[in-house]
Amino acid sequence: MIDAEHHAIAALESLGHLGDAEGRNIYDEALNRALDPLRTCPAVEVICAMCAFGRRLAYMAIDKHAAYVAATQDRAKPRARLGGMSDLASPPPSPVQGFAGWIQLADGGATSVRLVDRPANNAGYPLRLKFICRDCGAETITTNTRRLRLILAAYRDGVSTIRL
Ligand SMILES: [Zn+2]
Repeated sequence: MIDAEHHAIAALESLGHLGDAEGRNIYDEALNRALDPLRTCPAVEVICAMCAFGRRLAYMAIDKHAAYVAATQDRAKPRARLGGMSDLASPPPSPVQGFAGWIQLADGGATSVRLVDRPANNAGYPLRLKFICRDCGAETITTNTRRLRLILAAYRDGVSTIRL
């Protein structure tokens, strides 16, 4: 197991220096270098903070190439989970190629994770994501910066679940 705590603290510091992880900052060299050791950490479960029983909203993982945090309602099948983005659900095979599987799922409008920005505006990275609770209906729009801070704090603290 890698020393996720140490790497997460370093990445949070790098993000602090940069200010945010929006726009071109998602390609920032120092931040991405700091994130590299964390890209295969297990996806983190996101729980609705509004529900008494804490309904699951999504799983989140750090992108393979950018300082960006993706999300899907469900996880991949157990044998497909190798950490990071591989832990997130994929759509059924489609003749339409292009966007990443998790973006196709969010764009389909049938899961708890939705796109706020069109992916084409950000070179394939829709920066804001909306989470919709299937129990209480709460809708939360997150910036990429917020998701990155949350997932890094989870890796720093050694927890597999975060509340939103
Ligand atoms: Zn809820």
